[in-house]
Amino acid sequence: SLQDTITLHNGVKMPYVGLGVWQMKDENEARNAVKSAIAAGYRSIDTAAVYENEESVGLGVKESSVPREDLFITSKVWNSDQGYDTTLKAFEASLKRLDMDYLDLYLIHWPVEGKYNDTWRAMEKLYADGLVKSIGVSNFHQHHLEDLLSKSNEKPVVNQVETHPRLNQAALKEYCKKQEIALEAWSPLGQGKLLGENVLKELGNKHNKTAAQVILRWHLQNDTIIIPKSVHENRIKENADLFDFELSQNEMEQINELNRDERFGPNPDTFDF
Ligand code: NAD
Repeated sequence: SLQDTITLHNGVKMPYVGLGVWQMKDENEARNAVKSAIAAGYRSIDTAAVYENEESVGLGVKESSVPREDLFITSKVWNSDQGYDTTLKAFEASLKRLDMDYLDLYLIHWPVEGKYNDTWRAMEKLYADGLVKSIGVSNFHQHHLEDLLSKSNEKPVVNQVETHPRLNQAALKEYCKKQEIALEAWSPLGQGKLLGENVLKELGNKHNKTAAQVILRWHLQNDTIIIPKSVHENRIKENADLFDFELSQNEMEQINELNRDERFGPNPDTFDF
């Protein structure tokens, strides 16, 4: 069900499905989407300082009928805040904007060269102090993870990376699995750009589901955490209605054939922001 969780390596349970709120910048957009999602049964919300909507997310959470402790809230430290002291300050500012006293998950948004190890030291401190229940990373290649793991005490619980049928991240996923790091897909729908693919439409017709639901089900059967984004109540519901059908092995393989190792977003080795 929508409340199904994955147990992270530190024992914390994280919902497989959450709402992503990137590009919800208008004052009440994230607030309303969060309320719709929680009413539809979502328990996990993925925001970030750089999305500039943490206040709006916090209001949506408060106005929902679900207590804070039953929700799973993720935010991320932005690139310009990386480093030890600056990360501690950025975390405090995020909590304040969300008006919460802890986060469930805090992520390093991008692996800023020369800084992400100091940033991680601050994340470990926040974790030790109990201000965040789990810490993880985003946009880390295997070489970034190898470097981080060789220099740290705590292992990230998740790596949130661009993942969809065009970019299935098979090699990174295998490495993460060995390290007990869960894979979380950003742009799980390929930002909506894959919904016209024939194979997805055909499989959708066969199962009486939409192409979006077929992609999201493919992720779940790959044991991947997903945070699809929509501001529309009907799509928010649609993106969570994934638990009454199953793709066969053969159908999973048909979707795998869409892979081109092709990104819609930036490469973590060359991003510049
Ligand atoms: P997505 O793959 O979730 O696609 C969202 C878009 O697909 C929507 O804007 C809409 O146009 C379309 N869509 C959604 N549901 C649909 C449906 N049922 N039917 C038809 N069209 C539909 O893209 P995303 O927003 O890039 O990624 C999801 C979340 O991942 C973000 O909101 C954010 O929380 C996170 N993210 C993180 C990073 C990172 O660097 N860590 C980067 C990008 C996104």
